[in-house]
Amino acid sequence: MEQHDATHDSALAYARDLGEFVQNVPSSFHTSAAIAQLLTKRGFVVLDERDHWSIESGGCYGVVRDGAVIAWTVPTGVDAAAGFRVIGAHTDSPGFKVKPAPEIFAHGWQQLGVEIYGGPVLTSWLDRELSIAGRVLTRDGAQHLVHTGPVARIPHLAIHLDRTLRDMTKLDPQRHTQPIVATALTESGTLVEHLAHIADCQPRDVVSWDLVLADTQAPQVFGLRNEFLAAGRLDNLSSVFAALSAVTAKADELLDVAHITVIAAFDHEEVGSASRSGAAGSLLEDVMSRVTQALGFTDSDRRRALAGSVLISADAGHGVHPNYPEAHDPVVRPHLSGGPMLKVNADQRYTSDAVSSALWHRWCDQAGVTGQVFVSHNAVPCGSTIGPLVETRLGMRSVDVGVPLLSMHSARELAHVKDLLALRDVLAAAVTDTRPAG
Ligand SMILES: [Zn+2]
Repeated sequence: MEQHDATHDSALAYARDLGEFVQNVPSSFHTSAAIAQLLTKRGFVVLDERDHWSIESGGCYGVVRDGAVIAWTVPTGVDAAAGFRVIGAHTDSPGFKVKPAPEIFAHGWQQLGVEIYGGPVLTSWLDRELSIAGRVLTRDGAQHLVHTGPVARIPHLAIHLDRTLRDMTKLDPQRHTQPIVATALTESGTLVEHLAHIADCQPRDVVSWDLVLADTQAPQVFGLRNEFLAAGRLDNLSSVFAALSAVTAKADELLDVAHITVIAAFDHEEVGSASRSGAAGSLLEDVMSRVTQALGFTDSDRRRALAGSVLISADAGHGVHPNYPEAHDPVVRPHLSGGPMLKVNADQRYTSDAVSSALWHRWCDQAGVTGQVFVSHNAVPCGSTIGPLVETRLGMRSVDVGVPLLSMHSARELAHVKDLLALRDVLAAAVTDTRPAG
């Protein structure tokens, strides 16, 4: 049977690893911390931005800024003209952020005040047991990564109480999204008390937080032929994990090429990327300047490096939905299992041009992967991602790619296991390709 071949088995194993990763990183802060931890285990030196950096050829490094991470390998024979080969992705996902003063006591219930973060499919978050995850700051300035157990739920209204619910629920973003966490016969047992318990401090010492809601249901491989991975945050942990897996698997080989390989995993893509840890901020540029300076590049060398560089902006995209086939271009129809997508858009919402597309095809060939193309239906507005922002800021060539999903921005998205592994394989081919990319 085709689905039980070795390729399918390795795709399944990879998808299960990705599922485990997703389960362990419920917020962007958990994601950046987990990446740093994994890189450290693989011999990368994680630097502090406040320190003086000594960067040597033959070394592997990383730096964390809030929910973002940049990691890079410096080959022994680094050549300015070969530049940087960057895989860009994002660590955040749409959902809900806990408001300041979140405790609400109403109608015999204890609820949480939440804000909407980015563009989640609101109805997909109903009737799920949710945890709360992120960072808590205490009075002494210490940051605590916290992750509660299942403590919250946004309950659906019974259909008997509003028969119009049958035609897809329309939720008021303020009134209808506040999760319940307890019945409230008394006003003790607040969220802050719970967080303080987890962070091992006194409730009065908790001064601020960046906390999101997270689905607690474990990722699951499913389908008649076990082809699919269902999980939250596949947009865009499918790309983050592929980049991480490709670079760590090839770390030794990456010391023998001429280019500097970079993973750039930014936060805040879902809300426009304008932050100190977002792709529109200075993070990647700051790291690149410090690396080139440490390696003794002149200003002219640095610009030569940028001219020879390429960004592979990896972010999940849309596969054809069988119930809504009209939402796609009538001819270009990316399919789950058809491989990673090259994303094209005339309005530059994706960066791929003929030159960078040719590079992508070259890497697909090298990896033995059949890819596919995404272009929007002209009447359906196209999304965007970090590619255009980084390309515009740094002037480096860029290509936009990603795995096709169904249910994008749902609390539980859907990918094909074969596409997930194929993206990893093409990224591995891209970073080990010794031919110039610029
Ligand atoms: Zn995305």
